[in-house]
Amino acid sequence: MIARVAVFLPVEQPFDYLVPAGLAVEVGARVWAPWGARAVEGVVVGLDPPDAPAKLKPLSRRVDAPPVGRELVALAAWIAEYYLAPPGEVLRLMVPAGGRARSRRTISLTDEGKRAASALEAALAPASVAALPSRERALLGVLARGAPPPDAPGSAAALRGLLERGLIAIAEEVRTRGAREEVWLSPGRAPTENELARAPRRAEVLAEVARAGTISLERLRSGDPRAPSHVRALVESGLLVEERRAVERDPFAAIPLVASPPPTLTSAQAAALAVIEPALARGAYAPFVLHGVTGSGKTEVYLRAIAVALAQGKRALVLVPEISLTPQLAARFRGRFGSQVAVLHSGLTDAERADAWRRIQTGEVAIALGARSAVFAPLERLGIVVVDEEHDPSFKQQEGVRYHGRDVALMRARAAGAVALLGSATPSVETYAAAKEGRLGLLELPERATLRPLPSVEIIDLKQHKLPGGGFLSAPLVAAIDETLRAGEQAILFLNRRGFSTFILCKSCGQPARCRDCSVTLTWHRASDRLRCHYCGFATPPPKTCASCGAQAIERLGYGTERVEAAVRERFPDARIERLDRDTAQGAGLVRVLDAVRDGRVDVLIGTQMITKGHDFPGVTLVGVVLADQGMGLPDFRAVERTFQLLEQVAGRAGRGERPGRVLVQTYNAQHPAIACARDHAYHRFAEEELAARRELGYPPSARLACVHVDGADPLEVRKVAEAAAGAARAACARAPESVGASVLGPAEAPLSRLKGRTRWQLFVKAQNARALRTLARAAMTVTGPRTVRLSVDVDPISTL
Ligand code: ADP
Ligand code: ZN
Repeated sequence: MIARVAVFLPVEQPFDYLVPAGLAVEVGARVWAPWGARAVEGVVVGLDPPDAPAKLKPLSRRVDAPPVGRELVALAAWIAEYYLAPPGEVLRLMVPAGGRARSRRTISLTDEGKRAASALEAALAPASVAALPSRERALLGVLARGAPPPDAPGSAAALRGLLERGLIAIAEEVRTRGAREEVWLSPGRAPTENELARAPRRAEVLAEVARAGTISLERLRSGDPRAPSHVRALVESGLLVEERRAVERDPFAAIPLVASPPPTLTSAQAAALAVIEPALARGAYAPFVLHGVTGSGKTEVYLRAIAVALAQGKRALVLVPEISLTPQLAARFRGRFGSQVAVLHSGLTDAERADAWRRIQTGEVAIALGARSAVFAPLERLGIVVVDEEHDPSFKQQEGVRYHGRDVALMRARAAGAVALLGSATPSVETYAAAKEGRLGLLELPERATLRPLPSVEIIDLKQHKLPGGGFLSAPLVAAIDETLRAGEQAILFLNRRGFSTFILCKSCGQPARCRDCSVTLTWHRASDRLRCHYCGFATPPPKTCASCGAQAIERLGYGTERVEAAVRERFPDARIERLDRDTAQGAGLVRVLDAVRDGRVDVLIGTQMITKGHDFPGVTLVGVVLADQGMGLPDFRAVERTFQLLEQVAGRAGRGERPGRVLVQTYNAQHPAIACARDHAYHRFAEEELAARRELGYPPSARLACVHVDGADPLEVRKVAEAAAGAARAACARAPESVGASVLGPAEAPLSRLKGRTRWQLFVKAQNARALRTLARAAMTVTGPRTVRLSVDVDPISTL
């Protein structure tokens, strides 16, 4: 037999291998396949009887891990085709890291190799040794001394040469990783006054640990690769205490199960279920959008529909934007279905994740709940797929295989003959259009489940309400916060920008401080006293003098959540205030703050888009949007839609309990449709207007779009490759019959023209059908340039920065 194997490498096609006698493999089997001088893991995607005695290499062996199911192998093929991604890379996403085998290579000299090695030094070496290329001679010498092959260019080729000459043997030892130990840190003794004065980064690490209470070294490292060395010093001096734990603590395990007895359905919920239940009974693919206003009880509809599917002996897949941000949702699922739910979240260790995967695969659990990557959970007999907050951009993977979790979920449902439910208070324009055209069934929950009205939204036009000097809270907003606090109620303040000052500039020459590697300004974070790049993580102490002109005239401008927090603390010194953004929300810290808000132990919560995500805080009656315009001017065709969604979602946090809610929106664009529609909770009006605008400009969903990114260290080479790629796409457009009406835009410098030290260019391919889009994008991708220039393609891009 010949096995077609998609190896876990960025290569375009699967490769053929011989299946040696005695090795049983099937489609989906995970195998080790020889690859040059080494072996790589891959998945069998096809089996053929040999039609000719082809000279193929034999497969090495099976990987000791459960196979990938046939259904997922087929899904991977679709993803690879649709997103123009290497099939092996797609399949690699489908196996959890913990279950992914690691191989250790041992290299030994064969008898002939030993003879050759000892002859290397001899004056009269045999001809076979004398004929060895110099690289191989050198490598043989290294190996004979028992040293590993050097990590030098040409080393792999030399190794292959020695292997082919029969001078060495390579054995591949396969191990699947088991449980891992982790180092956790907590504060130790208090530092003395000047102890950390000259170690600001160490002080920062210490502050970070103190904020979190306890935190894993892994997490610190993910924020700063150099954290471990600081931590070592801090542990040695007793400022931090370290502890080894076998597994990372599961932040979800600590959440008490809220038994959630099913409430009596509202009539809208009942009407939606009256459509879903027969669809489940039919057992054929049936996709729906569940458009329900904030607080309308969409979750209850999911829970009921899933219960029906489970009663039919089927399984359920539930995708949510960022599971770690919505522990409450996980608790509701577990409250209803108990141990039948596997929660797949980023806090899982590799071993835990592999274990969850195993329990899903064996059918031990019937519901998989998680973020984007949970779409690959190995569920069989899938009856229902739920995508909650389907409009959320986090469903789109932004690097590597750039798939959209929602769209892949729909494909899975289609293949499995399952019901798909896309839920949102603000469905994406794409989804709206699909419902309008009848490609998705439309289910609506127009009122809140509590039958309370949606909160009233007032616009504060900042052109009229002049802000007090240097401040950013208008008088009406301050008054509203004051009233709310007096009434013993809670307020949320939203600003989608973290840090203290969003840029610093020199008053003398006007130059802002920029990231050395990206074309963006740096944000000053007060707690750590650092300027940070929000794109690459670069951090530096703020300068005392201007880097351009040397003047001592550094000014801090703009404001982020950290500064809003400081201002609110100053104005309301007695209020209990918490802030949630990427700087403060870490592991247990996030759960602690969300719990405190829910239990009424926080008066004012300040945060970024993190706080807009589906949270159900019954005590919140006031939501203040500090600046609605933030993000609206981005050069991205989704910027306006995104603004509307954020406003509607954050407004939806108000008045979910007994008392009515109120929303104040500060803006310089009071007349803008996104803001006016959010004021009126007019989703349909907004979607119609946006759809018309997209049609006019030829943007999705009225056309299909793919973005080809070109990036590299050398601006000139990047530009050349980008131009060549556009040329190739244009040529294909002229040639290919299916590409009538298709077009190529660009190339042009990307709006974010430098990122992590690389220059970025991009071009767009637009077409009416997916096939033409792929033809053109593929043509662009065939262009080759210097190795330092990278080409990548993003089909259905979610952001065009
Ligand atoms: P959504 O996801 O649509 O924003 P949720 O599912 O969070 O809304 O529901 C909002 C609130 O309404 C929750 O507190 C939930 O417990 C409650 N709720 C949902 N359905 C009902 C119902 N049929 N009767 C009473 N309360 C309900
Ligand atoms: Zn940067």
